[in-house]
Amino acid sequence: MTEIQSLLELQGLDMQRLELEKTLAGLPVQKEIDDLEAALAVLRASLDTTNAGLARARKNQKEAEWSLKDIAAAIETVSTKLYGGAVTNPREIEGMQGKLRMLEANKTRLEDQIISHMEEIETLESQAQAASAEITEKSSRLEGLESVRDARVSEITCRMSENAEKRDNLASTIPGSLLAKYEQLLKDKGGLAVVPVRGGICGGCHVALPTFLVTLARPNDSVVRCESCGRILCWVG
Ligand SMILES: [Zn+2]
Repeated sequence: MTEIQSLLELQGLDMQRLELEKTLAGLPVQKEIDDLEAALAVLRASLDTTNAGLARARKNQKEAEWSLKDIAAAIETVSTKLYGGAVTNPREIEGMQGKLRMLEANKTRLEDQIISHMEEIETLESQAQAASAEITEKSSRLEGLESVRDARVSEITCRMSENAEKRDNLASTIPGSLLAKYEQLLKDKGGLAVVPVRGGICGGCHVALPTFLVTLARPNDSVVRCESCGRILCWVG
């Protein structure tokens, strides 16, 4: 293989590396993972809010239950006194009846509160349950996608190191000055520095090359550049 042929092959490896880098940076499975992680973060935040609400509702319910017990005890005390026959003074009786009515009203209010706390707890519990189930489902899907991604990344990384090894070996057979010319041309031409010549046509700009240039390029043993696009020609047939 001549230096020019090696250079064409080297360019092929460089293009392959770029392609692999692009593939690695834009893995569709990574996009899926990112989306899933974002959805999980939203779900977890929502579950935290639900759980905080649940704790609050349970505390409120407990407090209402304690108050209800206190009121029931107070009703019991006042009733026993009132109906036990110990109190005979009508004004005192009236006062106690008023107190009893107030206590009963409070009792009813607390009972209603407890029912509404229970309903709230039930709703929040089912919301938390649904969110947890969704988190579990999404987490396991995420794990699956991550292992697909990891396998894909290691496959690509492996191909990249194979590519780098081949390139190093090949580059060591090409003179530094030619490599430098190639690198410069690669920059100037935006990714194609060496082009194949087939049927007298430049593989870079597709113009028909003058016969003398094709003849010059044919042995592939010196740098011959297309007159039109300036790229290095490598005769392939
Ligand atoms: Zn050309």
